[in-house]
This record gives sequence, structure tokens and C-alpha cells, in this order.
Amino acid sequence: MPNLVVQKYGGSSLADADRIRHVAGRIAREREHGSQLVVVVSAMGDTTDQLIGLANQITDQPDPREMDLLLATGEHMSGTLVAMAIHSLGLPAISLTGAQAGIRTDTTHGRARIANVDPLRVRQELERGRIVIVAGFQGATDESFLTGETTTLGRGGSDTTAVALAAQLAAERCEIYTDVDGIYTADPRLVPDARLLPVIGYEEMLELAGQGAQVMQSRAVELGWVNGVEIAVRSTFSGHPGTLIKEDREVEQRNKVRGLATDRNVAKITLLAVPDRPGVARAVFEPLAEAGINVDMIVQNVSHSGATDLSFTVNSTDLASARRALEPVVEELKASGLTTDSSVAKVSIVGAGIQNAPGYAARMFGALADAAINIGMISTSDIRVTCIIAESDVEAAARALHAAFQLEQPEPVVEATPA
Ligand code: ADP
Ligand code: ASP
Ligand code: MG
Repeated sequence: MPNLVVQKYGGSSLADADRIRHVAGRIAREREHGSQLVVVVSAMGDTTDQLIGLANQITDQPDPREMDLLLATGEHMSGTLVAMAIHSLGLPAISLTGAQAGIRTDTTHGRARIANVDPLRVRQELERGRIVIVAGFQGATDESFLTGETTTLGRGGSDTTAVALAAQLAAERCEIYTDVDGIYTADPRLVPDARLLPVIGYEEMLELAGQGAQVMQSRAVELGWVNGVEIAVRSTFSGHPGTLIKEDREVEQRNKVRGLATDRNVAKITLLAVPDRPGVARAVFEPLAEAGINVDMIVQNVSHSGATDLSFTVNSTDLASARRALEPVVEELKASGLTTDSSVAKVSIVGAGIQNAPGYAARMFGALADAAINIGMISTSDIRVTCIIAESDVEAAARALHAAFQLEQPEPVVEATPA
């Protein structure tokens, strides 16, 4: 739709009544430019964490369906309040739940994927001249699978709601408003001289988001990439133009690390002395997959006398269920035990330039060694190198790597090689 702008406001932008009024003011100004507006909201401040905390006080194994219904209320609350704040500026607005906005998902509670978007009601309300506020981070299962159960899209999922709606409504702009000025070369709260990137390609952003840069949910970047939605990331509190996430064709000419990401939500599991024979990896990883647990890095050591240690990482939030899934496997394989360590973290360097140039991994290891930081595990992709380190080393590692790759310096403009 020409003129249609989708804006998303994160939790810290809506943390209290004053901030909600501030957001309403921004929305009103956008409206003065003649835009039609769909506004996706996150839960206020730390509401989602508080709701999770409450559930955990009741039980350590909350029912996933009830959990999703509980968490979805956070976004209902902020949606209604934003609508009221817009009303008090004399403008028409209506808040909708994710289901009312037509966000249909699969049935995976807690990390549902959007299956399709049918924003009939959103269109109707826009046609009636209203500003449409949509509760982010949630959808409902398709009636054909189950009778419309509420689902949530995983932490940070409001970003994904916004991009999905922008794609489906063919919005002119998709803007993610947050508490920093845009995407930086590293988390600016961790690395004081992190540099704001005016533009970043989908591929690099996807990798940064996947490795812990929480500023965008990785699924949102993926949806933007697939649907060609350019995503502007900006501050709610400043007038800075921010960062544009889009197709970046100059990437090949840049021979550089673009940014780094850290992730503390990591736990390492080691199965001790598992037999070294065919079928063991399946016996270990199948039950984890069935429990919906993502396994990240895997290291199998050299075997001694027919047995080997097998280590891998999972999200620390999945550690308890991983343990439950693996205890019978340890018995069955006659392994000598299972140890876990949640005091580990990941640090990654990311850049499309990495794939064409050797030496980045060695430089990363060198910078960590110079900072006396031990590397526990290593993994790589075409455009990324990741190390597992101690969680207490995260800040030092991020700063050391930022300095070693000179990320604070603007990228040199490399002349395109004539064809
Ligand atoms: P919101 O509530 O607006 O969704 P989030 O807390 O999910 O906000 O994401 C914003 C936070 O992401 C920032 O406050 C910042 O600390 C963190 N962050 C991590 N990596 C980066 C990065 N590379 N650039 C910008 N912010 C980052
Ligand atoms: N409120 C949800 C969360 O805290 C979704 C979001 O903020 O995007 O993860
Ligand atoms: Mg977020």
C-alpha cells in the first residue's frame, strides 16, 4: 500500500505511561505526513520477563499452551494503552491482538513460526481511517490444525510481527523503534566505541542476530530478506536516521569484519565416555530434536579405548529440558555421565568479507589469546567465526576483538575492480 508505514516499538520504548505518551506523539506526527499507520507493540519494559518469573514461581514445568496465553497478555496490555494515548490526542485508533490481525502460526508453543498473514481486519480498520495497533510477538494456530490457540513467536518476536505485516501489506516503510540509535558494530552497552552502521546487508544482519545481537530477532531479518522488505532500525528517543537493513551489493568489495555479537544464553553439555560406534550421535541428538531443542556447536573428541566425550551447546533456557531428554540416553548408551556448564558464552565475528580472505580466524584467536581469554569450542560459517568462552570474559573479549579488527574506524571505500 502506498503511504502505509509499519512501525514497531520495543518494550523499553513503552516502559511507563510517559513513554507511551511519547510514542503516541511520534505516531501522531507520522500521521500528520499523511501516512496510514500500523503500529506493532512489545510488552511494556520487563513485563515478559516478569510473567515468565511468575510462572516459574508456580511450577518449573509450565504448560506451554498456558504459558503462551499468559505471555501474550503483555502485548495486549501495551496495545490497549497505546491506543488510549492516541485517542487522547484526538486521533482514531484501535488495538488488535495478533490473532485479530491475522497472524497465523504453526503449533509450536513458545517459538511458533508464522505460517501466513491474513490481515483482513487490519485493512478494514485502515480503510475506516484508524491507526491500527497490533500486539506483537503472537499469533494463533490455523483453525484447520486446532481451534485457534494463541502462540508466541519466541523472544524478540514483535520484530517479526512487524516485518511480516509490512511484507503482507506491501508497506512503503517498515521501521523498528528501539532504545539505541540503530545497528552498531557491537552491542553499544558492551563496547563503548561501537560504531553505528548506516546500512547493513540482510545476510550479515541475519548472522549477527542469530549469534546474539538481540536488537533484531533473526526470524524478522530472514522474513525481510525473503520478501525484500527494507527495515529501518531507529531510536524512539532521538531523531537519528538509524540503520537500514537491505540488500547490500557492495559487500563483496569490503574485505572486513562488519560486526561482532555476543550471547550469554548458552550452556554446554558433555556426555562422558560414550561408546565410539555408529548410531551414537543419532541416539543423542534425536531425543533433543523431538523435544524441540536446538543444538548449536558439536565437538566429538578423539576416542580412547573405544569411548569418547561428546560436547555440544544449547540455549541455557533449554538446559533443564535437554537434561531430562538425555538422562535415559546416558543409561542406554552406558556412558559414564553427563556434565553441564551454563557459565559459558559465545562471541562471534561476522562479515561477508570473511569468506574470501584467509586469516580472520587466526586473528580472532590471536586477539583472544593476547587478552588471556581461553577458547573452549570453535565453529565457523562462510561469513562468521564463533568461539565459546567463559561468560565472565564476554566484555573483555568483545572489546579486544572490536579493537583488533578496528571496527571503530569507518570502512575504507574500496574502488570496485573494473570488469
Ligand atoms: P526492544 O525492546 O526495543 O526490542 P531489545 O532490548 O530487544 O529492544 O534490543 C535493543 C538492544 O539490543 C540494545 O539496547 C542493545 O543493548 C542490544 N544490542 C545488541 N547488539 C546490538 C548491536 N549490534 N547494535 C545495537 N544494539 C545491540
Ligand atoms: N515481549 C517479547 C519479549 O520480551 C517480544 C518482544 O519484545 O519483541 O521477548
Ligand atoms: Mg527486541
